[in-house]
Amino acid sequence: MLPLETGAQLAPSTKASLLKVVDLTEFAQTSLPFDRIALDLRDASSKRLSGALLELPWGAILPSKTWDWSEALPLIRLEGSPELCKSGDVIELNPIRKKVAVRYRRGDTGNVLFATERCNSYCLMCSQPPREVEDAWRVGHLIDLIDLIDINEPSLAISGGEPTLLGDGLVKIVKKCATSLPETHIHILSNGRIRDAGLHANFAGVHPNLSWGIPLYGDHYALHDYVVQSSGAFSQTLRGLYAMQAANQRIEIRVVLVKPTVERLAELARYIWRNLPFVEHVALMGIEPIGFAKAHHQELWADPADYAETLGIAVETLASNGIPVSLYNLPLCSLDQSLWPYAVQSISTWKNDYLPACSACSVRERCGGFFSWVTPAWTSRAISPVPDLQACPVP
Ligand code: SF4
Repeated sequence: MLPLETGAQLAPSTKASLLKVVDLTEFAQTSLPFDRIALDLRDASSKRLSGALLELPWGAILPSKTWDWSEALPLIRLEGSPELCKSGDVIELNPIRKKVAVRYRRGDTGNVLFATERCNSYCLMCSQPPREVEDAWRVGHLIDLIDLIDINEPSLAISGGEPTLLGDGLVKIVKKCATSLPETHIHILSNGRIRDAGLHANFAGVHPNLSWGIPLYGDHYALHDYVVQSSGAFSQTLRGLYAMQAANQRIEIRVVLVKPTVERLAELARYIWRNLPFVEHVALMGIEPIGFAKAHHQELWADPADYAETLGIAVETLASNGIPVSLYNLPLCSLDQSLWPYAVQSISTWKNDYLPACSACSVRERCGGFFSWVTPAWTSRAISPVPDLQACPVP
């Protein structure tokens, strides 16, 4: 697992800023101004570099280990693994805390624009517990970041917190993506709860490849409201879903497989098919054991080995009625093999790990594995290396 942040030595001339990491090979092709670049010279010999190059007004310079430290240059020296960032990534310098954080990783499938810490739900299993802080500044910060993201980036999520709490600020962010990243699939992870009746209409036609991921945890208001710990949330989310449909938005329903939801999963799949047939995808997701989830293990944990039959019925209900369905965050050996074609390697690389048992497994390369912070209490009893698939064919 690669961390997202590290301690660093930063020269006094460095400023709090977002910078694109660019090595000498890529430098010739970039059109970014010097002060938006962290020139990556970690693999370059100082003897081959001209003084004129170093004197350009770089945002920062990442020197090789053999360089002598110079306060005259905007040097930053990372602690820990040099793999923390590479050319193409975007880093944020924090000279006061003496930290460098990675805000975009080229080639990572899990890049996120973090919109806000605020949320109006308090889901039992929230992996990012909300905080009531004033963070409207994030709109400008994300617009700044979007300028540095590769134009050919395949996909980005916008997450929080609840991104729609930014109101028109979220519209601005999506518009900026439309200008700078028109080919990128933008996926907004929202609870869908409608408050401003007109907000979703503002997204109509704004970005050519925009979709929403909206959670639904029950076919009955009391069940959904319990899981998200917010009275009235079910009806607000349903109104939100229909408002998005009216604004021609593409919608994915996300169902985290927590115990209360699993108990009515077949009914929920049927509810989605009958009432929300316009959704373009349903993701049935294993729980991420972090944040609030850790305090609610008893209420939340359901072993996939115990709900295999219900999961099969839910997948069949959706798939046979033309609604594409995927399984996220569920190791292959915890699933019936008939469901393997639906399983996706969904965990971001920076928080993805495998267990010792996996080293002897024949399907490790196609298995999504585990969140790095998984513990035995959150691990299926079905985890066991899969023998050679030639002896055990995939359906
Ligand atoms: S043993 Fe590990 S790699 Fe193999 S299917 Fe199970 S979780 Fe995946």
